[in-house]
Parts: sequence; structure tokens; C-alpha cells
Amino acid sequence: MLTVGACTIRIAEWGVNGVTDMDWISLAEAVLGGRSVTRDEALAIVRSPEDDLLALLHAAFLIRRRAFGRDVHLHVIDNAKSGLCTEDCAFCSQSAVATTAIPEYDLQSVETIVEGARKAKTCGAVRYCIVTSGRGPADAELDRVCDAVARIRAGTDIQICTSLGLLTGAQAARLAAAGVNRYNHNLETSQARYASLCSAHTWQDRVETIRRAKAAGLEVCCGGLIGTGESDEDRVDMALAIRDLGVDSIPVNFLDPRPGTPLEGRPRLSPSECLRVLAMVRFVCPDREIRVAGGREACIRSLQPLALWPANSMFTEGYLTTPGQGWERDQAMLADAGFRVGHWVSA
Ligand code: SF4
Repeated sequence: MLTVGACTIRIAEWGVNGVTDMDWISLAEAVLGGRSVTRDEALAIVRSPEDDLLALLHAAFLIRRRAFGRDVHLHVIDNAKSGLCTEDCAFCSQSAVATTAIPEYDLQSVETIVEGARKAKTCGAVRYCIVTSGRGPADAELDRVCDAVARIRAGTDIQICTSLGLLTGAQAARLAAAGVNRYNHNLETSQARYASLCSAHTWQDRVETIRRAKAAGLEVCCGGLIGTGESDEDRVDMALAIRDLGVDSIPVNFLDPRPGTPLEGRPRLSPSECLRVLAMVRFVCPDREIRVAGGREACIRSLQPLALWPANSMFTEGYLTTPGQGWERDQAMLADAGFRVGHWVSA
């Protein structure tokens, strides 16, 4: 039993019929009233029964609606440097240990990066995400990215996120000075589990880069990857760590196992499992931008529109090394589900 003000929530009393709709709504009302969900409550969300899914999503939507209404922020990724990475992240087709057949190329030219931003704008994107493979940016790469960002800011009305790996404080400051709005660096999983996914750097290295980006005045985008074999506790602990870091935006990726990676044999998550994780993240981080990110089409499949009940953001036009369902289908999905393409208003 959980007590929220005068209300008693029977989250622990699932029995054969599950909890009633009101139970999740009471928890949402508590969150909207300013209370943080506990670890046990977050676990109850990811473990909630199938019969509860629509009630849970409705409750998550009540929280999402207050911060974002029915807006969906579209983001477009530019894989500005692909493959050739020295790191060994087990899920990644660009890693040093992957044998996946992917395009490999060095950092794109300034012109190519700038042209990508123009195209993103025509898709209704609020944000253009410049992503490079690798442990962190070399000086010459940072020079080029900063040059491209300055050109984009001068000519295209779009927010810019960069995701360039581990950063020093000085590198973060350079990006901020060039006009980057936000830096992406994901925790990927819980602190306890990280070493089983990557040995080349640590979870704490990642936290330090996030702190450096914040210290430089950048907004921070920080999320993770679900479906690598982690436990429910790992999922919740990652979400709580992200909450504690005070990030602005949270991409939730779902593993679409890539052939040639150490995780190629992992089964895909079910749509409802993905949706419960998104709902949990919304309850944990009620007013943060939450993005249904990589693996949306592959894992959530025909239930993709339901992801927009907890999430207020998504990528369109594909991911780093895999295609999406395409901008036209994304637009139709938003319209059919009664959502609209939103315009970013920075806090
Ligand atoms: S550092 Fe980035 S590009 Fe390199 S293996 Fe890890 S996730 Fe992939």
C-alpha cells in the first residue's frame, strides 16, 4: 500500500484484476502536486501488469500534458562521423569490437553539416543533433564542428545539440561559445551495470562530462538504452540518476540488436515493456523533455503512437546507423493521434 496525502494507492495489490485506473491517476496527481516518486513506486510502474497499460499511459499523459500539452518536439540526427571508434560499447555497431557492415567515414565537411540543418528545418525539427563516433573530439574535429555550428546559427532557426563523446571543461566551453544549445551524453544504464556494457571508459567518466557540459552553460540531454539485459532495478536506478543530474532532456532508446555486435543475440523488448519504461521515466522526471528515441519502430511497432502519451519528443528521419519509418509516416502518426509538431520554448 502507498499513501499519497489522503489517498491510498493499492499499487502493491495487483492480484488477478490489477489496480484500478484511479490508482495510477492518484500517483500522477501526487507527482503533479510536487512529490517525487520513490524507487519502489518506479519499480511498480515498470512491473505493472499488461491489463494496466492504458490506465498507466493515461496517468503518465496527465503529467506530460501539464509541461508540454499535446506538442511533440521533432529532432533530426546527423551522423557526422561514422564508425572507426576506439571504444567497446557492446550495443554499438560503430565500436572497435563490432563487425557490423556500416558506412565508415571521417567527420563531414562544414557544408554537409550545415546542409543537414537546413533539411532538418524543413521537416519541422526544433533541434538538429550533430553526432560523432569516438571517445571524444580531437582538436581539429572540434574546430570544424564549432565552425559548422556558428554557420548554422547565423542562417537557420534551429536549436543545436552536439554529441561528441567525453569532453574536457575547455571543450565544453568552446561548444557553448560557438552557439551549441545542448550537449548529449547518455548514461546508457545504471552505474552498477555499466562495466558489463563497456570497459573502455566508466559510468563516472560519463557523469563528469555531463557535469562539465552543465558547468559550461549548456543544456544537457542524457538518457539511456533499454533492452541490453538489464534488470528492472537497473532501469529505475538509471532514471533516478538522470533525475538527480538535473538534465533537460532524456532520450530513451530501445535496443534493436545489431548483427556483428556482442548484443546481436538479445531479443527485442515487447511494445508494452517499452511503454512502461517510458511511463516510469515520465513519473520520475515529470517536467523534462522525454524522447522516444532509437528502436522506436523496431520495438514498439504498431503501438508507436502510444509512446507519445508519456513522451513529448521523438526523432524523425532515422537514427545513427539505422533508418526510421520516415518523416511522412511520422507526421501522419502525430496527426492521427491528435498531437502536433511543437516549437521549442527554452526554459
Ligand atoms: S563511444 Fe559512442 S561511437 Fe564509440 S562505441 Fe561507444 S557508443 Fe559507439
